[in-house]
Amino acid sequence: MKILVINCGSSSLKYQLFDMDKEHVLAKGLVERIGIDGSRIKHTKTGMDAITTETPIPDHKAGIKLVIDSLLDKSHGVLASLDELSAVGHRVVHAGEKFATSVKLDDKVMAALKDCIPLAPLHNPANIMGIDAVIDVLPRIPQVGVFDTAFHQTMPKVAFTYAIPYGYYEKYGVRRYGFHGTSHYYVSRRVADMLGSPIEKLKIITCHLGNGSSITAVDGGRSVDTSMGFTPLAGVTMGTRCGDIDPALVPFISKTENLSIGEVDSLLNKKSGLLGISGVSSDMRDIEEAAGRGDERSRLALQVLVYGIKKYIGAYAAAMGGLDAVAFTAGVGENSATVRSMACEGLEFLGMELDGEKNKVRSEEAVISTDSSKVKILVVPTNEELVIARDTKRLLD
Ligand code: ADP
Repeated sequence: MKILVINCGSSSLKYQLFDMDKEHVLAKGLVERIGIDGSRIKHTKTGMDAITTETPIPDHKAGIKLVIDSLLDKSHGVLASLDELSAVGHRVVHAGEKFATSVKLDDKVMAALKDCIPLAPLHNPANIMGIDAVIDVLPRIPQVGVFDTAFHQTMPKVAFTYAIPYGYYEKYGVRRYGFHGTSHYYVSRRVADMLGSPIEKLKIITCHLGNGSSITAVDGGRSVDTSMGFTPLAGVTMGTRCGDIDPALVPFISKTENLSIGEVDSLLNKKSGLLGISGVSSDMRDIEEAAGRGDERSRLALQVLVYGIKKYIGAYAAAMGGLDAVAFTAGVGENSATVRSMACEGLEFLGMELDGEKNKVRSEEAVISTDSSKVKILVVPTNEELVIARDTKRLLD
């Protein structure tokens, strides 16, 4: 069975084609700059060099058509005909409280997702546009939606309720939702497999640290708290997002800098985080390099990030009443030995002992705590696409 996984952004589209019999990726690619000058598709057939084609791609429908052409191409394609494609699985950012699991997409589900646009005005319209385009191009192929928020729907009310007038929850659904759910789900399951323990018995903290970052408490396999909130702006310091701040800063900056609420929102999303503190970059590689050569503000940005991670680890160990494992994933979590070692430093009192040698690992599954560490520390490369493909297959079966 072959399943295409699609992740649509406002001007980009990532895809992977899975052969589900062996769960391996046959081809993957990226369509960039949709509707902008310089649009292109980069397609890679597994085992071959990537092929980049620059061509006008005015909209998502044109993008999807190019993806299909690439998959069917005689030399670098992987499908003889579209009949081989069993289904398409889509990453969708926000399902509000409507879906706690993945679902087959039909008119009713699409209407529900449209209802969620006010909750995710930046992300859901792009996802919906992508799904509509795929349905247009592949009308007879079943489509499945897999939601970033779904895994966190098990959070108890005490963890998702904001202390603002309760009517806003009832009227507008204002609450903590959490994101990166597919990644936290995948990583927590891999942790259980790697440790050879049933997930039901484990208290795990998963640290997804990328451009966007979130930390989740997974108790017995269920998300019980997570650092992102109503939007992906909350939580630990990110590449350009501020993470947790005093909400009173919004009116303060708005007033003193004479900025609209929208402008402050954009400043907190796009000019804050590591970039905002360092003034150097949002990219952790640049921050580490600049901190290494003595740039004070880059060093501070790094410290603010790891201080936040430590506080979440402490908070979630307290929330779960114990801790068995801490896992690091995503671009920074998988690659940065520096961030991992700084984040674990001083947490020995919780039973976390990092092994400096094992911590040198990059982008591969590994236990990086000492043999005697009570709490296991792990690196687990995330694989959200595989979860989407598996869920899609399950719903077809
Ligand atoms: P996204 O949230 O966009 O999916 P990723 O998970 O790809 O992001 O993570 C991107 C981040 O990972 C960037 O800050 C990048 O600098 C960081 N990163 C990638 N490789 C390394 C590395 N070798 N060392 C430190 N940071 C890295």
